[in-house]
Amino acid sequence: MLVLSKRKAKWRALLCLSAAVMLCSPVRQAAAAAIAPAVQSGSSSAAKDDVAAARKELYEQMSAATGIPWFRFAAIDQYERTIAKKKSGTAEAPVKSRLTGIQIPAPVWAGPLNPDQADMSPDSIRFFGGMGHDGSGDGLADPDNDADLLYSMARHLLKYGNSASDFSIAIWEYYHNGRAAQRVGQFAKLYEHFGRLDLAGSAFPLPIGNSYAYRSTWGTGRSWGGARIHEGTDLFAPHGMPVRSTCFGIVETKGWNRYGGWRIGIRDIENRYHYYAHLSGYDKSIGRGDIVTPGQQIGWVGSSGYGSPGTQGKFPPHLHYGIYRDRGITEWAFDPYPLLKQWENQEYRARKNKKK
Ligand SMILES: [Zn+2]
Repeated sequence: MLVLSKRKAKWRALLCLSAAVMLCSPVRQAAAAAIAPAVQSGSSSAAKDDVAAARKELYEQMSAATGIPWFRFAAIDQYERTIAKKKSGTAEAPVKSRLTGIQIPAPVWAGPLNPDQADMSPDSIRFFGGMGHDGSGDGLADPDNDADLLYSMARHLLKYGNSASDFSIAIWEYYHNGRAAQRVGQFAKLYEHFGRLDLAGSAFPLPIGNSYAYRSTWGTGRSWGGARIHEGTDLFAPHGMPVRSTCFGIVETKGWNRYGGWRIGIRDIENRYHYYAHLSGYDKSIGRGDIVTPGQQIGWVGSSGYGSPGTQGKFPPHLHYGIYRDRGITEWAFDPYPLLKQWENQEYRARKNKKK
């Protein structure tokens, strides 16, 4: 049985390699062609669209060659892009001519005991147990080549199988980090659900109008819970006003928290965690792992929190809204106030344009 499955795996790998070699050279050329104008015209949205289209094509071709769904490549790639530290100006700045953001460390790529940590020979990399493979068909396993990177990742994933749970085990085995595994799984689910890479979009967390009030309260002291700074913005509003998702995302947490009361946490594709606290209740359609869209109702304004489950009324009803950015090991809060203003203005403008 073991021999049989081993042989099957070998055959599959062989098939994949030849398919990748056939497919990936044109992919690389297409990718290079798409990047060139994108780099020239800076960060215009047309250039962004070009890069996104080239990325999607790369994932899809690698998917056709390996049988791994495109959204899994997209999820790993996006996860790595969101945790990459901005190192511009140093030698380690990401390579500009690449479409993917995946960075496989040299000892993993070339093999931990490989004396040549910059080795690109597939044979000696294999000898030293590195994960680098040639996916572009040029005879080199280059960690800065998109096709080589994705193909090497595919070979890693194929060792575990193709189901969703095989995928999460493979990701765990690669990162040895539960948060990373969770994020990649969430991103894959989002991409699969929407069928596209572009999941930008926003909404103000309350129905816009004049029955709420908020100001920048970043870093001010808290009245309860000791010496912690206030990591978010309080939007004072009547009890029962609908609370809406500000983004495309996936529900990560839901339930009681001593400080936040009935709260909900939503992860977006940029690896930001949107935190909504002190709710009076949840929309009944919302559960952990569910996907939400900007403007979708998730619950209602309340005054829950600052005590044991069910505590409420210790302060005026308001929505506490916070945003945290995951950097891989730690999560940082940042001031949501400027974004709230921006989203509110966007909705006012959109409403005005509709009336015209
Ligand atoms: Zn607050």
